[in-house]
Amino acid sequence: MIAAMDDIPTALPEFRPGAVWLVGAGPGDPGLLTLLALHALRHADVVVTDALVDPRILALARPGAVIEPLGKRGGRPSPTQAEISARLVELAGRGLRVLRLKGGDPFLFGRGVDEALALGEAKIPYRVVPGVTAGIGGLAYAGIPATAGGTNSAVAFATGHGPSGELPDDVDWRALARGAPVLVVYMGLATLGRLRDELLAGGRSADEPAALVSRAATPRQRVVETTLGAIVEAAALSKFEAPALVVVGPVVALRGRMDWWDPQEQSE
Ligand code: SAH
Repeated sequence: MIAAMDDIPTALPEFRPGAVWLVGAGPGDPGLLTLLALHALRHADVVVTDALVDPRILALARPGAVIEPLGKRGGRPSPTQAEISARLVELAGRGLRVLRLKGGDPFLFGRGVDEALALGEAKIPYRVVPGVTAGIGGLAYAGIPATAGGTNSAVAFATGHGPSGELPDDVDWRALARGAPVLVVYMGLATLGRLRDELLAGGRSADEPAALVSRAATPRQRVVETTLGAIVEAAALSKFEAPALVVVGPVVALRGRMDWWDPQEQSE
C-alpha cells in the first residue's frame, strides 16, 4: 500500500499546467517509483506512456487523467520520435500537465534526450525525473548485481539495437570485451548471435556465465542462466521474449546464492 503523498514529509515541486515531466517509471514493480514519479502520477492531466510501462503503475494515475499510449515498439508500426515530441509540445501548449512516462530511466536508451531537447526548443517548461534502470534494478530483482566487490570493478551498459536494427557499429565490441568485465546489453535479443561472436573474438571465454532476464521486477519475470557460448541456443530453446536484458560476466554466478525475489509475490 502506498502512503498518500500528504503523509510524506518531503516538499515536492508543483506540477504546473503547461509543463511536461519526463519521468522514469523503473523496470516494473510500482514500489520502485520515486516520490516525484508518484507525485506526477497523482497530478497529471494526461499520461503519455511508452510501451514498457507496467499497467500497475498506470493504475496509480489520478482518476480522470487521460492515459495516452505513445511509444516505439520493436517490429511494429510506431510513431516517429519527432511525432512523439510534437505531441508532447502540443499537449503542454494546451495548458495541460503532461506526464511523459518511460520504462526504467528516461536517459538510458530511452530517447528522453530527444524529447527534452524538443521541449526546450519549443520553450515548454519541463522537468526530468530519473528512474531505476532495468539494467541495475531489474537485474537486482533477478538476483544479479551489476557490480560485486572482488568480482568486477567496472560494468558497461550497451544497446544491442543500432539505428538499422543491427548491433550498433559505433561501439568497438571487441575492445569492450577486453575492457568491461561485466556487460549489460539492452534490446539485445535480435542481435545476440553477433554479440556473442564479437565478444568471443575479443577474447571472452565461451564458458563465461551469462544470463537472459525478461520482464524483470514484474510477475512475469523470467531468468535463464547459460554461458556466452550457448546463449543463442538458450534464448531460442526457452522462447525468450523482449523486453529482455543480456548479461555477460562473473556476477551472473552470484545468482545461485542470491536469488532472493519471488515474482509470484506480486499479482498482475
Ligand atoms: N530506459 C529503459 C530502457 C529502454 S530500452 C531503462 O532505463 O531501463 C528498452 C529495453 O530495456 C528492453 O528491450 C530491455 O532490454 C530493457 N528493459 C526495460 N525494462 C525491462 C524489464 N522490466 N526487464 C528486462 N528488460 C527490460
